Amino acid sequence: MRVLPTVAVSLFLIIGGGCGPRIHVPLPPEPGARASEPFASPLDFYTVLSPFGRRGSRYHTGLDIRGRRGGGDPVRASRSGVIARAQVMSGYGNLVEIRHDDGFTTRYAHLRRFRVRKGQKVKAGEVLGEVGATGRATTEHLHFEILTPGYRFVDPAPLIPRRPATEKKRVT
Ligand SMILES: [Zn+2]
Repeated sequence: MRVLPTVAVSLFLIIGGGCGPRIHVPLPPEPGARASEPFASPLDFYTVLSPFGRRGSRYHTGLDIRGRRGGGDPVRASRSGVIARAQVMSGYGNLVEIRHDDGFTTRYAHLRRFRVRKGQKVKAGEVLGEVGATGRATTEHLHFEILTPGYRFVDPAPLIPRRPATEKKRVT
């Protein structure tokens, strides 16, 4: 897998994300990439709508989850960090991106509205926005991504805690 320089590949992965992403198979996480703090669930309660991973000939680069309501649930910072993006991006719709101290990044897509601005520091659990359906989304949900310091996508599902109190429990 030395066909392209890492930088070019990373850039391609960054641009290609979102629900129904345009990439086929992402690179595996770089060796030794470990987060220094645990990730928390961005929603207080959630059910999984669509898992991370292959979707036909494409690859789903995040985890699609929904809260109790059809939309409007508060979306919280999974970890503390600095807001690197709070803007509209193709496919992602209203996107918040947090850069964490250890170089990991989390992304929160399809938000109905923003509650933070670029450059702002946030603590884990702070409200970033509300669940919505902006961008390439057919229903109101949160598309949540975790990226390593080398901008490789990892499956958020095993990294965020499950919420047993949820009523519609189909947390996979
Ligand atoms: Zn998604």
